[in-house]
Amino acid sequence: MGQPKVVVIGSGMAGLYAGTYLAREGMDVTILEKEPTPGGLLASFHRRGSWFDTGLHYLGSLSPGQALWRYFQALDLFPLCQFDAMDDCGFEEYRFPGFTFDVPQGWAAFVRSLETTFPLEKDAIRTCAKDWQTLAGLFPLYNLQAQLKPGQEAEILADPLALQSLAGYLQERFRDPRLRAVLSANNPLYGIAPDECPLYIHALITDSFVSGAWRVHGPSRNLVQALVQRFREAGGTLRVNARVRQLASENQRVRAVVLDSGEELAADWVIFTAHPKEMLGMVAPHALRPIYQQRVSGLEETISVFGLSLTLRGTGVATPRRNYFLHRHWDTSEVYHAFAAHDPYDPDTIFVSPVETSPGYAKTISIMCPMPFAFWAPWKDTTRGNRPVAYREAKEKIALALIRRLEELWPGVGTQVDFWEGATPLTFRDYTGTWEGSAYGIKKSCGRLREATLSTRTRLENLLLAGQSVVLPGIVGATTSAAAAVGNIVGYEALVKKLARL
Ligand SMILES: Cc1cc2nc3c(=O)[nH]c(=O)nc-3n(C[C@H](O)[C@H](O)[C@H](O)COP(=O)(O)OP(=O)(O)OC[C@H]3O[C@@H](n4cnc5c(N)ncnc54)[C@H](O)[C@@H]3O)c2cc1C
Repeated sequence: MGQPKVVVIGSGMAGLYAGTYLAREGMDVTILEKEPTPGGLLASFHRRGSWFDTGLHYLGSLSPGQALWRYFQALDLFPLCQFDAMDDCGFEEYRFPGFTFDVPQGWAAFVRSLETTFPLEKDAIRTCAKDWQTLAGLFPLYNLQAQLKPGQEAEILADPLALQSLAGYLQERFRDPRLRAVLSANNPLYGIAPDECPLYIHALITDSFVSGAWRVHGPSRNLVQALVQRFREAGGTLRVNARVRQLASENQRVRAVVLDSGEELAADWVIFTAHPKEMLGMVAPHALRPIYQQRVSGLEETISVFGLSLTLRGTGVATPRRNYFLHRHWDTSEVYHAFAAHDPYDPDTIFVSPVETSPGYAKTISIMCPMPFAFWAPWKDTTRGNRPVAYREAKEKIALALIRRLEELWPGVGTQVDFWEGATPLTFRDYTGTWEGSAYGIKKSCGRLREATLSTRTRLENLLLAGQSVVLPGIVGATTSAAAAVGNIVGYEALVKKLARL
């Protein structure tokens, strides 16, 4: 018997990771990608001599020995892709009206900095840091050295602390609203309002960045190229312009993956990494239980984003290697619920990621802000390259407002802007196939966590789900979801042991 045949649908972080891991185990793997270039949200685009990233500004837990480092080391990615450590004294900077807080790398430094700024709440700060690290450590595929059993994350989902909302947790423990704002300021990284976000999601994502924040040296496509090189070296086949339209099934197994062209590919295993709602439209009506189909199709999405990429003339702006969160409100949930009450053309919360183009300087800047799909719904039936003037005008108005906000960081920077390009929720929807342009896939909110927690396994025995909607969003989330799928094929314990040994 030959090696198992695996078809992976989607070439984002989850698809490339799962495909490369399995190819290196000697399996016969084909990755299918609908776009002409691989990478999904990791892909970069090139305009006027500069590279711009779409969905990767920094990575967490990438210091030696940490979770993402082990995952990357397992594929021997470090000789092919360089990473730069973010600024030690402040890899993130939070700005609120009249108040700024820099987040240093490492929990000890972070706690010290919080205690210095909020001395009256020292004890609660220490308890909070401990709680969040404990919650993060309970995840088997994140805390690899603990060698926890698969399914042990189910215990977290029964832990009242993990399920409490982030805003509720902060409200109960901290008196100073500025401290509550600081401890929830990074929520645009996962697109769930703090009053809806289960504490464990925030704790894990915060832990991963605080314990080791890095960025890809150069555009994020360098990471894609590294993954693709390792995949091909291991004998894998990557096919682009290969949109999957159907998963033909028989006897509770996927019999063939069917492309738009009509070509059929048979496989022993199929790993689906695109948006789970897209999968529902690909299977025969009887293939999955109706109750599962209703549940998945009714799940809410994380908020979408508006993205702006720009270049500056001259040497650019002086900045350490850090990302900035600019908030106009102390209540960090407000932007999610009160969008319509504010000027939709002048977003209140924005994330700014300057890209170092020479030491200490950035000529390229990415900006993003939470943006509901509903605002772009009037143009939802239009396609890439064929949007009407009104859409382009809306895009320009928001882009100019975001450029004005940059003046808060670098006065006068607006006059240096040489070129910009905007991406709306429709852009994200059309490039990655994410539902309603949701930035981080399916929303796991406190109220609907049980329904929104999807298993890797499906009723079709050889169909596995991975991708940011399954475990958690972000590169760490997409990678661990890929590992969960891989674990089903190679054996979970063998996989974790291998990663823990590195
Ligand atoms: C603006 C933005 C900024 C972000 N910044 C960061 C960050 O700084 N750090 C971080 O850790 N995370 C960040 N994230 C999140 C992170 O990028 C994602 O969680 C992660 O990349 C998702 O990977 P994925 O493989 O699950 O999905 P995707 O990257 O969306 O990959 C899915 C792939 O499937 C393909 N596909 C879809 N349908 C089909 C089909 N029918 N046939 C074939 N192929 C198909 C798509 O084209 C796509 O390539 C950001 C996200 C956004 C939107």
